[in-house]
Amino acid sequence: DPRVEHAASLIRNVPDFPKPGIQFKDITPLLGDSGAFEGVIDVLAESAPAGIDAVCGVESRGFLFGAPLALRLGVGFVPIRKPGKLPGTVVEEHFDLEYGSSVLAMHIDGIQAGQRVLLVDDLLATGGTLCASGKLIHRLGAEVAQVQVVIELADLGGRANLATCGLNEVLALL
Ligand code: IMP
Repeated sequence: DPRVEHAASLIRNVPDFPKPGIQFKDITPLLGDSGAFEGVIDVLAESAPAGIDAVCGVESRGFLFGAPLALRLGVGFVPIRKPGKLPGTVVEEHFDLEYGSSVLAMHIDGIQAGQRVLLVDDLLATGGTLCASGKLIHRLGAEVAQVQVVIELADLGGRANLATCGLNEVLALL
């Protein structure tokens, strides 16, 4: 798909960011090109399963793709955030990172039991972030119809990790 090729050409590899030894995938050139950005949203929307009730996006780069995708699909957007940011009653999930641990939170009234949710982030690495996000959605009784990411770092085994969290439908553009 030429839209995917165009997007791929606008991902910048930054060596040693944010720490030595890490190759950072910088999506800002893609976001800065309205045609490429719109193309990514269009491809994601076309790839979404039918009957989606809501889009959940993961802080913070998941918001950049999830919010326009929700508008394109004609459904609401629900943020999954770092702790202490959401003012209402939340569910929280603690999870391990390569160095240390983290927490994600979602409003309990953000989605309803039985809904079919599209879960969106910019990048799949180990899958820890999306597993924790999927657990939040599952705890509220909703179903993750599909996980969508723009970039997958396939060497890190993220897909297998997502499967262990019950996230079996995964679409990566790049
Ligand atoms: P995981 O939990 O190991 O799958 O890491 C995925 C999370 O880390 C996502 O929320 C990404 O935004 C972020 N992340 C990890 N590596 C990169 C990168 O190279 N570029 C942009 N974001 C990254």
